[in-house]
Amino acid sequence: MNTNPFEIIDERFSKLVFGHIRLDCLYTGCRWAEGPAYFAAGRYLLWSDIPNDRVMRWDETDGSVSVFQAPAFYANGHTVDREGRLIACEHGGRCVSRFEHDGSRSVLTTGGAGWRLNSPNDVVVKSDGSVWFSDPSYGIDSDYEGHAAPQETDGCHVWRLEPESGRLTAVATDFEKPNGLAFSLDERLLYVVDTGATHRSGGPRHIRRFSVNADGASLSGGEIFAESTNGLHDGLRLDTHGNLWVSAGDGVHCYAPDATLLGKIRIPEVVSNVCFGGIKRNRLFICASSSVYAVYLNAAGALRPAS
Ligand code: MG
Repeated sequence: MNTNPFEIIDERFSKLVFGHIRLDCLYTGCRWAEGPAYFAAGRYLLWSDIPNDRVMRWDETDGSVSVFQAPAFYANGHTVDREGRLIACEHGGRCVSRFEHDGSRSVLTTGGAGWRLNSPNDVVVKSDGSVWFSDPSYGIDSDYEGHAAPQETDGCHVWRLEPESGRLTAVATDFEKPNGLAFSLDERLLYVVDTGATHRSGGPRHIRRFSVNADGASLSGGEIFAESTNGLHDGLRLDTHGNLWVSAGDGVHCYAPDATLLGKIRIPEVVSNVCFGGIKRNRLFICASSSVYAVYLNAAGALRPAS
């Protein structure tokens, strides 16, 4: 990459990026890279290559890339819980799973009595340990990113799971295709993307913002925070200043907490998802179609929720 990738739209963005920084391509050769998660203790990045049904691993210490898991239940979104365990959204398993410290896999939820989830897409863990995830239909719409199958739920919802009790609650039920989601630093706000435009012309391509109620377990509000101006927004993460770094058709878009589009990181492929990492959490890892890119920022990823 020979050119500086940053497009400054609002002057605030110039303080978040470096004019001399270039984009690094860490790997290419995926069919659809998604679900990045950085493990600080091991200094590695995991991400999904959904159609190839594998999870990949990039080692920060030597730059090598290897297959972490294959087959991988067509895993999509990932995050790291408060105990450092990998949480996975599995299209193939129609579940949310967790990799335990001994390496075994636990299925945290597949849905309810007599029905299965559609295909969990993206996930965050709140500071109280609850697991919040989106459940659109992409993983059951065809055999390309999972297993084609009928929908068993009454819609595509955002769910909250208590892993200890298994209690599963729909916290938002008015989405077409809920997708990436992220809490604000203080966990008073939850941002959730709707990518309904994939299935309906004129459908949603926006980020909604909810208030987390005082019980910490339910939502109110849900107004549209921002509409994508290029392609669809999908996965997103917040930095310590509350700015949103969101995937889009032409790169990564950065929104201020007041919803101003501050700028973009131009990426030569359609971006699906991002996460912060590196030992200072100041490097943004970018899953984009066939490749994974990385760029250093003058901003650091929010530690809550872990990602
Ligand atoms: Mg997604």
